Amino acid sequence: MSEQINAFEMAQKQFDHVAELLDLDPQIAEVLRWPAREFSFRIPVRMDDGTLRVFQGYRVQHSDARGPNKGGIRFHPNETMDTVRALGTWMTWKCAVADIPLGGGKGGVIVDPATLSTAEKERLTRGWVQNMYRNIGPRQDVPAPDVGTNPQMMGWMMDEYSKLVGEFTPSVFTGKPLGGGGSEGRTEATGYGVIYTVREAMKHLGMESKGTTMAIQGFGNVSQYAAIGFVEMLGGEIACVSCWDRDDKAAYTYSHPNMCDPKFLQSITDKYGMIDSAKAKEAGYVQEDADAWITKDVDVLMPGALEGQVNAETMKTVSDQVRIIAEGANGPTTPEADEIIQEKGIFDIPDFLCNAGGVTVSYFEGVQNDMNFYWPKDEVLEKLDQKMTKAFKAVLDMSEKEKVYMRDAAYMVAIGDVVKAMQLRGWV
Ligand code: NAD
Repeated sequence: MSEQINAFEMAQKQFDHVAELLDLDPQIAEVLRWPAREFSFRIPVRMDDGTLRVFQGYRVQHSDARGPNKGGIRFHPNETMDTVRALGTWMTWKCAVADIPLGGGKGGVIVDPATLSTAEKERLTRGWVQNMYRNIGPRQDVPAPDVGTNPQMMGWMMDEYSKLVGEFTPSVFTGKPLGGGGSEGRTEATGYGVIYTVREAMKHLGMESKGTTMAIQGFGNVSQYAAIGFVEMLGGEIACVSCWDRDDKAAYTYSHPNMCDPKFLQSITDKYGMIDSAKAKEAGYVQEDADAWITKDVDVLMPGALEGQVNAETMKTVSDQVRIIAEGANGPTTPEADEIIQEKGIFDIPDFLCNAGGVTVSYFEGVQNDMNFYWPKDEVLEKLDQKMTKAFKAVLDMSEKEKVYMRDAAYMVAIGDVVKAMQLRGWV
């Protein structure tokens, strides 16, 4: 079983640790330890059967020192204000590390979207915007999809915002559908971005990528394209993936004696990242328990689902073969696990560097919306690769210069840039 962690306490703990390393002025640290603004609101939604249900919504704006707040909206039954705070804080560091001119924010709703009809989901997303439209906008705060939300929902939200403010404003939300203001390459962006950083890590470690193996937790948007990218770009093999099963209310790991075929698995996965277990078994896949993914003899582990999955308990079961942990998910590693990773000498690519591909293409999407001119997919992915590679190198350089762990180095780059922006604006 995975231990229960409070993601925001973890985010603050990581920040405090690096603030100390950087000898950061405690008054500046106090500003950055907490989000600048927090919104908590109720969203009444008329359900298809005529009843009225009230949902709990959130938005947190952590820092806009480097530009408008930026971050996804998560629809999840276990959403809490602290999760949103943590994710919003990490977004500030992620945008800084990726060197895109945006700040950090995050939003959410306590709901299992799979239990809603399409019409109910549309009313809920529009309700979220009705609560927040005065405090979001292309120059204020630009939300995007996250777990449980998708491009269609962003299309509805953009439409609601445009109607409320009285002008077509595509760049208020990113992650919109193609043809509705979305960018080519956004669907693949986070997963491919993970693989660009894995490629750079392997070069750094002197590893030949062809024939290497990776075990993945989760099989949603991020994990699917990371799996495809690992096979197609690096010539690697996917040992297993895992997902949550709504019917059984449990997670499972899926492996195959001849290694996984990510495109086949994608074809039997629903839009919430749930693999059809019957079809998987029919094709020879083996179903194991939730935490089996982390025990595999592989070169790379990629947590790509939720927070706190790589913890002191699960780290005990990690194979000595593992050389890289690529954090596709946000906040997958607890501070206790961090210590074990360092002791074992595993190369960690921290979340806000590793999964920055999504927000980078979101930023490209906003740029294209504002220009009203759209780039082809190859151009988007090439620009993404350049940004991710540059970000990886900046963090690696810091890690080597200061002789610190990659997560600390990423924080040092990010916090340094945010503090510099605060100073240049005369805030501190
Ligand atoms: P998603 O909703 O598309 O997929 C989530 C996956 O995790 C699904 O396959 C689900 O079945 C699985 N899952 C849920 N609970 C699980 C459990 N207990 N054990 C194993 N699997 C479980 O979400 P996503 O967009 O792929 O995001 C995944 C992670 O990556 C999140 O932490 C998110 O914040 C982060 N992230 C996403 C993006 C993006 O662009 N989508 C960008 C940066 C970071």
